[in-house]
Amino acid sequence: MGRIKVLDPETVGLVAAGEVVDRPASVVKELVENAFDAGASCVEVVVDKELKSITVRDNGCGIAEADVLLAFERHATSKITCGADLERITTFGFRGEALPSIAAVARVELKTRVADAVGGTLVRIEGGQVVDFRPVGAPPGTTVTVRDLFYNTPARRKFLSSPRVELGRVTEMTGRLALGRPDVAVRLESGGRELFRTPGTGLAGAVRAIYGEAVAAALVPVEAEGAGARLTGFVGRPELVRTTRRGQTWFVNGRYVKHGGLTAAVYEAYGTLLPAGKHPFFVLHLTLDPGFVDVNVHPQKLTVRFDQEREVLAFARGAVKKALFGRAVLIPGTKGK
Ligand code: ADP
Ligand code: MG
Repeated sequence: MGRIKVLDPETVGLVAAGEVVDRPASVVKELVENAFDAGASCVEVVVDKELKSITVRDNGCGIAEADVLLAFERHATSKITCGADLERITTFGFRGEALPSIAAVARVELKTRVADAVGGTLVRIEGGQVVDFRPVGAPPGTTVTVRDLFYNTPARRKFLSSPRVELGRVTEMTGRLALGRPDVAVRLESGGRELFRTPGTGLAGAVRAIYGEAVAAALVPVEAEGAGARLTGFVGRPELVRTTRRGQTWFVNGRYVKHGGLTAAVYEAYGTLLPAGKHPFFVLHLTLDPGFVDVNVHPQKLTVRFDQEREVLAFARGAVKKALFGRAVLIPGTKGK
C-alpha cells in the first residue's frame, strides 16, 4: 500500500466531484437548483442529442463580477454563513460544491449578469483551470454550458449509459425539478426539439405539461393542513393505477425526496382501491417549517428526517384518504352495484 500522503488539491477536486456529479442528469439537477435558488421565474434546459453539451439558462439574480470566480471555489456559497443556518435550510444548495465539482470534470462556460450592472461576466473553466475571464454583454441572469462531461476522467465516462438512456434520465430529472417548483416556468429542449414546457402557474399546469392531458384528467386534488404541515398535490384515480412505481413523486419543501414512510402512507390511503401488484400515481408536496426537517443527511439530499415523523405520516395518510374517498370515487367494476 505504500506511505500515507495528503492528496494534491487537483486530485481532491476530482474525488469530490464524483460525489456530486455522476451523470448528465445530476449536472442538470445542480444547475437548475442553482437557478431556482437565484429566484428565477424562467429556466431553460437545452441539451444536444449526444449530451455533449448541457446548457441551463435562467433569469435569476445573476452573479456579481467580483463573485464569479469564487462561485467555482470549493465550499464557497452565498446560501449559508454558519452552522446555525443548517438548522433552517430554505435553499436547494448550501454546500458550495456543485460548480467546482462540475468544472473539475468538464469544460464549463458561465455567462452572468446582475440586473443593475451595466454588463455581464464570462468565465470558462476546463478541468478546474480558468481559461478565460472577461466582461461580456449578457441579459440579466445566468447561463451555464457544460461540455464534454468527464473528458478528463475516462473511468467515469465509461459508467455513462448510451445517450438515449442518459437523455431519458435528464428528461425525468428535469420533469421532477419542474414539478418541485411549479411556480417556475421550466422548458426542456433536446436536439432542437422541445420536450416539455411548464407554464409556471402551479402544479396542475406542470403535471399536464409533463404527463399529458390523459393523466391530468384522471387526478384527484389533495389539499389539507394539519400536524404543523400542509399537503397539496394530486393523486391518481384508481383507474390510473400503474404496473410500475414511475409517476410517484414526493416533495418536502419543494425538494424531491425518497421517503419510504411517506410513500407507504399513500398506499395505505388507497387501501383496497389498489389491486395487488399495482401502484398509484401521485405528485405530492409536503410543506412544513424548515426547522422540523433535516435535509443535511446525504450529499445527494434525497432523504429527509422529520421531527414529528409519526404525526406527519398519519396526517399525510388521512389527507390522501379524504381526497380519494371524500368525493364520489368509482371503483372500477363496482359501478351500478
Ligand atoms: P451552492 O448552490 O451549494 O451554494 P454551487 O457550487 O452550486 O453551491 O454554487 C456556488 C454559488 O454560486 C452559489 O452559492 C451562488 O451564490 C452562485 N450561483 C451558482 N449558480 C447561480 C445562478 N444560476 N444564479 C446566481 N448565482 C448562482
Ligand atoms: Mg448549488
